[in-house]
Amino acid sequence: MNPIEYLKGVGPQRAELLKKELEIFTFKDLLEHFPYRHIDKTQISAINQVSITTDYIQVAGVITDMELIGKNQGRRLVAKLKDKTGTLELIWFQSLSWVQKNIINGNAYLVYGKVGFYQGQSQVVHPEIELLSPEKSDGKNFLDPVYPSTEKLKSRSMNGRQIGLLTKTLWAIIQPKDLPENLPSFILEKLKLIPRYEAYQQIHFPNSTESYAEALKRLKFEELFFAQLRLGLIKMERHRFSKGVIFDKVGECFNNFYHHYLPFQLTGAQKRVLKEIRQDTANGRQMNRLLQGDVGSGKTIVALLAMLLAIDNGFQACMMAPTEILAQQHLESISELLVEMNLRVELLTGSTKAAARRKLLAALANGDIHVLIGTHALIEDVVQFKNLGFAIVDEQHRFGVAQRAKLWKKAVLPPHVLVMTATPIPRTLAMTAYGDLDYSVMDELPPGRQPITTVHRFDDRRSQVMDFIKEEIIKGRQVYIIFPLIEESDKLDFENLMKGYENVKAYFPEPKYLISMVHGKQPAEQKETNMQRFVKGETQIMVSTTVIEVGVNVPNASVMVIESAEKFGLSQLHQLRGRVGRGAEKSFCILLTGSKLSNEARERMKIITSTNDGFIIAEKDLELRGPGSIEGTRQSGTLNFKLANIVQDKPILDRAKLVVDIILKDDPDLVAPANQVCKEFLIQQQGKTAWSRIS
Ligand code: ADP
Ligand code: MG
Repeated sequence: MNPIEYLKGVGPQRAELLKKELEIFTFKDLLEHFPYRHIDKTQISAINQVSITTDYIQVAGVITDMELIGKNQGRRLVAKLKDKTGTLELIWFQSLSWVQKNIINGNAYLVYGKVGFYQGQSQVVHPEIELLSPEKSDGKNFLDPVYPSTEKLKSRSMNGRQIGLLTKTLWAIIQPKDLPENLPSFILEKLKLIPRYEAYQQIHFPNSTESYAEALKRLKFEELFFAQLRLGLIKMERHRFSKGVIFDKVGECFNNFYHHYLPFQLTGAQKRVLKEIRQDTANGRQMNRLLQGDVGSGKTIVALLAMLLAIDNGFQACMMAPTEILAQQHLESISELLVEMNLRVELLTGSTKAAARRKLLAALANGDIHVLIGTHALIEDVVQFKNLGFAIVDEQHRFGVAQRAKLWKKAVLPPHVLVMTATPIPRTLAMTAYGDLDYSVMDELPPGRQPITTVHRFDDRRSQVMDFIKEEIIKGRQVYIIFPLIEESDKLDFENLMKGYENVKAYFPEPKYLISMVHGKQPAEQKETNMQRFVKGETQIMVSTTVIEVGVNVPNASVMVIESAEKFGLSQLHQLRGRVGRGAEKSFCILLTGSKLSNEARERMKIITSTNDGFIIAEKDLELRGPGSIEGTRQSGTLNFKLANIVQDKPILDRAKLVVDIILKDDPDLVAPANQVCKEFLIQQQGKTAWSRIS
């Protein structure tokens, strides 16, 4: 595509700015820089209609009395705009010489801007202004585009309207063949979508608000359709062509454990997922599966059984956790479960000492170790397995896609990969961001769990909360008290944590009560010791930051107190709450907040106190915060659409997904003549898809 500096009116300097400020490099980029609103030039208000309640106005009139007043910082241009009904003041503080040269006393202008009042006089500061051109107000709607711009661009005469002039220049040389149709005609007909060229025209320069809406509908669909198609093709290609190790038998390890050492009956959901994994790993293709389960749904045991399956088939398995504490805990619970089984399970983390590490790596390479549990340390290049067949990534959102891929490279054939999420991701997001993975859901909690009672209290009632904690401790329970430390480096948060700790200590004096404290600034060893004391029941209270957020399992803990709960997101609150309610005892979660809450924070407290269902909470979180801020998907980039918003445009997304599924089911190689248009479009957008086998 043509570089943007070749467009008439751009030139090297403006091009530089457009690239830097808006990432517009080519003609195509400019064409895809869509307007955020349109001005309807026929909607002209009378100046005397402006009132205190007016927000933005569009008026037309003659400029008079333009003058430069004030000194230094206060220097400004002031002019009057007069129509038949009254006078509006226009003011400029910047770009004064440009205004003086271009805005001329006695000429008629169309003015748009935000109305303000100063000493009773209505005024517009830095209005959008242009010469009034009456021939265009021909009774029909006339909608002029306004584009996103930046302060820097505005100061260089490229505000939202001026960028529109560039788009206009560009559109004049664009022909239908430059924007060929990329959707099969049967889709266009079926879904009543307008052609692509027309959509581009109407989104920039609509004939009417209706045709703008049609353009938007068409282009949003196109965007979501191709995103889904790309993911669908990657998944399909993996299903059809990727080679994986074969687990074709359920052997002694699995059976022995299942029949003799499994401490409970599996839930229906656990059995179902296990079956999905068994089918996936037996067919000669590499499994790449996302396991979504609510906190406490019992993902660990599923992971363990899957690893036993690998061992039965002569392979090693590994499990990667996001923190040392969690890796340590997995090691302990898994070692305990396997204690009678004569299997070697080891731990590798950043703090494994050099000598131990050397021994461990040797044992790993010659196949003596069956299961390796660890942190990021697992994916370092020096870690070589004899024959890794199964890799589990626990609490996925801390790991990037690239890290996942590194695991694959640890064997000749890539190992099967099971990715387990910490908290559910809304289905919408899962299918958009992880559409290339297969997908399992565990939507059932083990039996006998009592629902956790969650309450919200303002922090002036902290002493009652402390009394309640005391009662629980007397009953033999343990308690978490969590402080926000969003950034571990945040000094204020850290001081609050220390103050909070002193406060808790005052309520619960040693030696009658013992407290563990864990936070990110401690050395790993100290963290570990404090954590272990709590896990073993030596301390009754755990004061901590969110370092314990994911995974830890202390069934005897029955109270979770979250301080400054308004600072946490919904999924984080849910995740923290999931640390209790793991034993047989009734559990409680108490959210302490200040009394002045934003509406959104209030809404969050309402949601979290009203449901224990992680899937519902995830959906609400998505609605409240939008897709960009959901953990685990931020880096994926797949959610950044130019026009579509996967929350508001969910119906369009669903339709796109459905259409893609139908197309790929009938024509996975896109060879049908009707589908050539999408195939060509994808090839043209090369680099965004693994297209190697389908060309
Ligand atoms: P998560 O899915 O959050 O990782 P865990 O695997 O840590 O959950 O399991 C939570 C708790 O539930 C553990 O104490 C585990 O032993 C227990 N558990 C798991 N599955 C079952 C089951 N089918 N029946 C009873 N308890 C179970
Ligand atoms: Mg877990």
